[in-house]
Amino acid sequence: MLKNTIENALNEQIDNEMSSAHLYLSMAAYFEHEKLPGFARWLKMQSREEFGHGMRLFEYILDRGGRVVLGGIASPPAQFGSPFEVFEQILSHERHVTESIHQLYELAVKERDYPTQTHLHWFINEQVEEERSAEEILDRLRSIEGHTHLLFLLDRELGIREPEDDDDRKS
Ligand code: MG
Repeated sequence: MLKNTIENALNEQIDNEMSSAHLYLSMAAYFEHEKLPGFARWLKMQSREEFGHGMRLFEYILDRGGRVVLGGIASPPAQFGSPFEVFEQILSHERHVTESIHQLYELAVKERDYPTQTHLHWFINEQVEEERSAEEILDRLRSIEGHTHLLFLLDRELGIREPEDDDDRKS
């Protein structure tokens, strides 16, 4: 059985992941509007991944005989700045998510909940990837600043991102 403290924290993390999905979907709509379909596609896929993260926690709570209680999702902004500013926002958002996963892990250690610790290992590794990919795109955007034609090339490159089967299977 899941302890209440862990169950509540896991449920909160579902909301965090779903809020990320919502934020990235809003960014996707913004890029579509800005005529950057590659950025839009990348973010739509990122949004789906975040939904998949939420679903991993959803299934885990149920596997442990817990109750899923969904909270509210914050309304994301509809208006964003330059691609560079958007990716700065993504990186800072992902760092915040990393922090919340680490706090959840600390709680699982404190409560001696070993299965939850093991389940969270995947998320801890995933956050390393999430931060790295946001940093890489930020570096690219920094290096092409002021060169519109290079921005369109990067847009095309981001547009060929393929969905990860892994997240589909789990969700
Ligand atoms: Mg996530």
